[in-house]
Amino acid sequence: MVGLDIDGVVADFLSPFLLRLEKRVGKGPIPAESLRSVRLSAHPVLTEEAVRDCSDAVRQDPGFWDGLDSLLSGEQWSRLEELSQRGLLSFITHRTGHESWDIHAVTSEWFRRHGITNPDVHLVEKEKSAVVDKLGVVLFVDDNYENCQDVAEHTNARVLMPHHPYNRSFSHPGVMRIMHFNQVFTEIERCLDVGAPTSV
Ligand SMILES: [Mg+2]
Repeated sequence: MVGLDIDGVVADFLSPFLLRLEKRVGKGPIPAESLRSVRLSAHPVLTEEAVRDCSDAVRQDPGFWDGLDSLLSGEQWSRLEELSQRGLLSFITHRTGHESWDIHAVTSEWFRRHGITNPDVHLVEKEKSAVVDKLGVVLFVDDNYENCQDVAEHTNARVLMPHHPYNRSFSHPGVMRIMHFNQVFTEIERCLDVGAPTSV
């Protein structure tokens, strides 16, 4: 089983979120390169309050999540769909919505639009390692170094972390930084016997 985080891995959460923050803070553009942590803390312009307000606002706005751009190419989505069809792909996310709408449904529909016909989406409230363990994930991908560290230290899964400015300072012996999503497919071939026939 392959376990993928969603935001910052296959969906571009950050760009529209930074636009909202820019409007809220009103001090001009906030470049992604200026971010030092996944919690957007220790930033010259961003305050904890602004980040919290914008997080609360997007939680109540299904259109925000529905409108996120994909970080993958059509070819990459096709390869994920193949994996998904074989029951080897799960999406594991900390997304939290609001009682007024169904975040699982909106997220699943977003995947269907990108060609994942039957997405297996897990909304996780606490540590992802417990779900990774339960699902039998052998390859886990997340942009949040806290999740990477948790899964690297508490499961046997191989952990990949797509490079972003907000995770650039993190390094861990159990976490491999990747610069391009195609490295995920290389590792999938190593971790899963994907070339083997499904029946004999
Ligand atoms: Mg993420």
